[in-house]
Amino acid sequence: MKRLIGWLLGTGASLRRRGRLLSTNGVGAGAGAGFEFKFKFTLTPFAPSSAQRVSKCLALFALSLGTAHAADFDYRLTARPIAENVYAFIGKTEDFDTVNGGNIVNTAFIVAAQGVIVIDSGPSLRYGQQMRRAIAAITAKPVALVINTHHHPDHFLGNQAFADVPIAALAETRNGIAADGNAFAENLFRMSGDWMKGTEVQAPTQTLSAGRLDVAGRRLRLVALDGHTGADLVIVDETSGVVFAGDLVFNGRAPTTPHADVAHWLKALDQLDALTREAGFKLLLPGHGAPTGDAAPIRQTRAWLSWLSAAMRDAAKAGLDMNEVLARPLPPEFASLPVAASEYRRSVGHLFPAAEQEALGAKP
Ligand SMILES: [Zn+2]
Repeated sequence: MKRLIGWLLGTGASLRRRGRLLSTNGVGAGAGAGFEFKFKFTLTPFAPSSAQRVSKCLALFALSLGTAHAADFDYRLTARPIAENVYAFIGKTEDFDTVNGGNIVNTAFIVAAQGVIVIDSGPSLRYGQQMRRAIAAITAKPVALVINTHHHPDHFLGNQAFADVPIAALAETRNGIAADGNAFAENLFRMSGDWMKGTEVQAPTQTLSAGRLDVAGRRLRLVALDGHTGADLVIVDETSGVVFAGDLVFNGRAPTTPHADVAHWLKALDQLDALTREAGFKLLLPGHGAPTGDAAPIRQTRAWLSWLSAAMRDAAKAGLDMNEVLARPLPPEFASLPVAASEYRRSVGHLFPAAEQEALGAKP
C-alpha cells in the first residue's frame, strides 16, 4: 500500500498537491497507510474524473500487492551530541535516492537557555517532522528559530514541520527559495519518491544579515559567504566553539556544484579556514560528511574544487568536446571518494561550457 501511495504522490505536481490536501486536513506521517489511501480519495473535491482515478488506483493497488515494500519512511534520525548542548543529525554521503529518502545532509540544533535553534531542516516534510520529534526527545524547550544555511532543497524542505516558528535565512537565500524552491521540490520527488509525500516549500519568514545574532539566550556569529551558492551562511556558536559550515564544506564526499562560483567558493574556504584557527574553535560541522576538530575537510573541498576548475580550463584550452571531458578518468586521489563519478559528470555539465566560453574569449 505504501508503495502505491508513494507512486501516486511522487509523480508530479498535481499528485503532490494531493499530498498537501492531506496535510492541511491533518493527516500526518503517523496515520495508517490504508487510512491515508481512503482519505485521499474521499477528500479531493476538486479532482477531475475522480472515478477514473479510483479505478486506475485500484488496478495499481492490485498490482502492488505482489510487491511488498520494506520502506517505513522512518529516517531513523539519531541526535548525535557534537558539543555541549549541540547536536547533529549526520546524513549519508550518498546522492538522493528512494532508499535514503534524501537523508544525505547534516542538520543540527543548539539547545540554548531559552529555546532550541535549528540549523537546516532536511529534505522533506517527513524529515522535518521526525527531526522535531528527535529534538523533543532531547529537550522540552520550544524551538525558537530555524536557520537555513542556503537555498538547496536538502537544507530547507523540512521547514514545513517548523511552520509555527520563525524561519530565517540570508536575503539571497530567501530569493533563491522563492525562485527555485518548487523546481527543487519536484526534482526531489523524482529522486526520492515516497519519502517526499506532502512536502511543500515553506519559505523562510525572516531575513538574516552578517554579524551578531542573539537568539534564545545564545550569541551566534553569522558569517555571510558565497561560492557554493549565491549566499552561504556560516554560523559560529561562540559558546560551544562549533562552526556550522553548511555546504561550503564537504567531508568524505565529492562536492555538488550546480550553483557554484568556484573562485568565490575558494575565497570562502580561506575565510572558513581562518575561523578554524580562532582560539575558541572546537569543531567544524560540514553540510555533508562527518564533523571534525580540524580543517581537514576544508582542505579536501579545496583540493577537489581546485582540481575541477583547472581540469575544465585545461580541457577547454585543449579543444576537447564535452564527451571527451566526461570520459576522462578521475585522478586516483579522488576516484574513490563517494559520489565522485556522478558529481564529476554533473559538474562538467554546467562548468565546462563556461570554461569553453572563457577559452574562446581568451583567444586573439
Ligand atoms: Zn548545497
